Amino acid sequence: PATSNTHAHTAPAGKEGDGARSVGMDAKLQVVDENQHFTKTLDEHMKGWNLADAGFNYDVVAVFGSQSTGKSTLLNRLFGTRFDVMSETERRQTTKGIWMSKGQDMNVLVMDVEGTDGRERGEDQDFERKSALFSMAVAEVLIVNIWEHQVGLYQGANMGLLKTVFEVNLGLFLAAKQKGKEKGSSQDKTLLLFVIRDHIGATPLANLRNTLTADLNRLWDGLSKPSGLESSTIDTFFDLDFVALPHKLLQPEKFEEGVLELRKRFKSPQEGGDGYVFKSKYHRRIPADGISTYMGTIWDAVVSNKDLDLPTQQELLAQFRCGEIASQAFELFSTAVSAFPPSPGAGKIDSSLGARMAAAIASALKSYDTAASRYHPAVYARQRVELVSKLHAALHPLYVSHLKNLHKLVLREYRVEIEQAIRGEGYDFAVVVRTAREKAEKTFEKEAKAVVLEESGWSVEEQRAGLQEDMDQVAELLRKEETRKMVAVIERNIKRQMSDTVELALNKPSDDMWDKVLSAFKAALAKAEEAYLKKAKTPVSRLSRCSRMLCTTGFNCTQEEMDGALSLLRRRSWLALRSKLQEHTAEAPMLGKLKLVFEDKFRYDADGVPRVWKPEDDIDLIFRKAKESVLELIPLYAEIKPSDPSNAFELPSSSGPTGIVDPAAASADEDFDFQESLQLLSPSAQSSLSNRFRREADAYYIEAKRSMVASRAQ
Ligand code: GDP
Ligand code: MG
Repeated sequence: PATSNTHAHTAPAGKEGDGARSVGMDAKLQVVDENQHFTKTLDEHMKGWNLADAGFNYDVVAVFGSQSTGKSTLLNRLFGTRFDVMSETERRQTTKGIWMSKGQDMNVLVMDVEGTDGRERGEDQDFERKSALFSMAVAEVLIVNIWEHQVGLYQGANMGLLKTVFEVNLGLFLAAKQKGKEKGSSQDKTLLLFVIRDHIGATPLANLRNTLTADLNRLWDGLSKPSGLESSTIDTFFDLDFVALPHKLLQPEKFEEGVLELRKRFKSPQEGGDGYVFKSKYHRRIPADGISTYMGTIWDAVVSNKDLDLPTQQELLAQFRCGEIASQAFELFSTAVSAFPPSPGAGKIDSSLGARMAAAIASALKSYDTAASRYHPAVYARQRVELVSKLHAALHPLYVSHLKNLHKLVLREYRVEIEQAIRGEGYDFAVVVRTAREKAEKTFEKEAKAVVLEESGWSVEEQRAGLQEDMDQVAELLRKEETRKMVAVIERNIKRQMSDTVELALNKPSDDMWDKVLSAFKAALAKAEEAYLKKAKTPVSRLSRCSRMLCTTGFNCTQEEMDGALSLLRRRSWLALRSKLQEHTAEAPMLGKLKLVFEDKFRYDADGVPRVWKPEDDIDLIFRKAKESVLELIPLYAEIKPSDPSNAFELPSSSGPTGIVDPAAASADEDFDFQESLQLLSPSAQSSLSNRFRREADAYYIEAKRSMVASRAQ
């Protein structure tokens, strides 16, 4: 059911019964109907009147007086409203309940209050009381409309009405006081503006004023006042002002002039001057967006005859409205956040997220602050804190996943950077790691800082620590890999260096054959170790100039790591030497070597001249001696054993963890037995070798014999 009783012919914008869409600037609204129900559409009307966002920039005026004293007529003339006016022919009461409209060209809410019947008071008194209470709670200015000829009629209806107004005011004051709230800014004075109608002019306004003032004081004195207020006067609560208007029908022009003059006093401080009625001390300080709720609860309290205490009402209103404003702000915020670009995916970040979040929060808070800051400061502040933490909580998941992705991203870039740098040659591993780390830390700090919202209490400490740990791990892994590479290079060098020495020594067997091999090997190994240590330590000494923190990120191998790398280097080098030796001591090359030695001894004489067997030669003896001396060489080759024990090389047999990832050597590591590794030819290999050699030597013998027989036969 529409309470907006707009007339189509007077207000084309406001079609009857329509909702907010059709609420025009000049629409009027029955805020309280004849059944004493409060309207549900005041909010819509506030919007239609363009007052919803007015804050405190609006005023409220209400008119009081007996029925049919031209109240509605006056309001319409003063404010350009379209309240119903009794037609001259019908003469029946038109204004039922309380109507409201907005003044033309001014932010004024005008209330047209149903008047009481001057002749038969009684039933009317109940509504009069309620409407007075309501008007006192919301209006800054009460227009009291009276005929000139009513002035001085102390027993008249007007005095009854004013008595009610005074009593109601005292009641409000008392209720506020009982709640421990002093007469505060929100319950300051009210202006009672007496408009004396049909002023003929015979009695000057000053006299009318005196008469009225005297009557009012008498009325006040007669009231039973609560303790503490015994000596109070009307002035304690009210300012009084008096205006006279000529007879509308008899002096229409003068009436219009008077109305226009009076209108100025409502219009603006500029036009009203000293007479401007809406002084700020009268303002009720209810923000426009809360007026509907406030008036509704006030009316409910009035109707149910509850004690009406305005400060409490205002605090309740503040709680309610700040809550509403906060949820509106949050909704705005949620919409903004859901319009964020989608997360760029794992290991990727959107650098603008921080700015986006901050902007969403700022605009939500701005929207909250604008409206809510007009309410009770403590309530406003409390709900703001709640709102802020709600906003932060809503963004926290975004923040967490951003940090996670940032961590991934930075770590990946860090690893790639190091890997790329060490792909080439001539780099300093420590410097590479340090540079990459500085860059990573800088990126992390910058991006993390951007998403930590002000006053959120969020900390990136945990993520930072995790990242540091991961970077340490990556650096360590890469350093081990680096060490392994280095060891492999050194091992290759040793192999190359040893190749000639081994060839030379093993092809010319002698007692000190192993001494030569081992001392050369030891010298090469010592050089290799030195090279490694130089590389492993260099960065540390170079880093000693830089800050301590950065030093921990360098190639500063720990003693343990260096020991591990060295023992790996030794073992790998030894195994490399041994495999070289094994190449040489395999059966076929061995046989070759033995045959060479044998040939040397059997087919050449002591001067190195090839023998031509003569009959006097003792082939058998020479053959046996040569064969035996060669067979004696087999045990020499069989085991790596220097003649001088000081040339011996030692390695610990048990393979402990080297701390260096070395998959190539892993299997060899597992069952490495140094003593076993000294053995090149097993006993069975030795006997097999000696058997084969014997057969080959025998062939030489037979050949030698044949050649001698042949020479004899010649
Ligand atoms: P309300 O009941 O107080 O709102 O009175 P209305 O504004 O409906 O007017 C009641 C009657 O008084 C109407 O017939 C008006 O024409 C008439 N009226 C309005 N203003 C004046 C005035 O200034 N003087 C006189 N004598 N009659 C007026
Ligand atoms: Mg009326």
